[in-house]
Amino acid sequence: MQALMGFRLPTLGSVYILTPKVASLMNQGNIPGAVVPDRLLKMVRDEWTDSARGRAAGIERAARLGAVLKGLGYRGIHIGGVHKRFESVARILDRMKQIENRWPDFLSDFDFSPPGGFHAFPEPATPAVLPHNYGRKPIRMPFLGRLHFRLLELAHTLFFNTDASLAPLYQRLSKWFDVNPSARAILHFAENVGKQVMLDCRQCGDCAIQHLAFQCPESGCPKHIRNGACGGSRNGRCEVYPDRWCIWHQTYLRWAYAGKSNEMIQGCIPPRKWELDRTSSWLNFHLGRDHQGASAEFARFCCSRASCGPPGSGISIGMK
Ligand code: SF4
Repeated sequence: MQALMGFRLPTLGSVYILTPKVASLMNQGNIPGAVVPDRLLKMVRDEWTDSARGRAAGIERAARLGAVLKGLGYRGIHIGGVHKRFESVARILDRMKQIENRWPDFLSDFDFSPPGGFHAFPEPATPAVLPHNYGRKPIRMPFLGRLHFRLLELAHTLFFNTDASLAPLYQRLSKWFDVNPSARAILHFAENVGKQVMLDCRQCGDCAIQHLAFQCPESGCPKHIRNGACGGSRNGRCEVYPDRWCIWHQTYLRWAYAGKSNEMIQGCIPPRKWELDRTSSWLNFHLGRDHQGASAEFARFCCSRASCGPPGSGISIGMK
């Protein structure tokens, strides 16, 4: 995934020695980001009918997972569930040393995917497997969802695309609006009404809908995350409001519907510029003031991977 996104960041894997109690908590979704499927829970419970056998099985599984993670290119592992017993850590590391060359043999130990589930990469997984499977599964969207997506996509193509022939005109107009307080207030009002209806806009002034398949991260995600999902979502549902779909789940479906799911791996989205709160995101975009203006180093780093850039930068923006 990192290679696909153009990143070279050292990554730690997480290895946890499961006991029936912790496995059960994870199985019920009580620990964000941790998933223990029913089959694994049953295996752990069976192993722990005898506690010494359970701990030995847990250590063996941890060593195998550590070996797999190392083989896949992780730079290190974080070992959890050892409960201050360094002896368990030592046993895991010793066992890893014995078996690490055989790591591909253990991949199937950690395959708990449900039948018919989505695989991001073709099986069997190896470090250099390309291409990915994103967007290969046909996605159906209800009529209103399609209409919403297409309308906003069209608006972005016409008005928020620095490659468009009218972009220099929009920039000149924006400069005029910006220095005329009454005109600016009217434009801001019109923007708010339209975006309130279409997006439940919160007036952040630094619009990011083009990164989320034309959905608002401020109103759609309780954590306002612009680089999601957060890890707490489960079966596509929001961690904070389980009655809602996670907006990042919806983002994937919308991009996949449009055949543009590659957008999900285009790189990081620059952070929101809080100083623009409650100002016109339209003007901020055309005048190069928003996150896409890439003034900060981190924003430049993200933008070089997220196909964004300020007006006239030569980097395409808006149409995602
Ligand atoms: S990202 Fe900001 S400007 Fe865009 S719709 Fe959401 S709150 Fe409004």
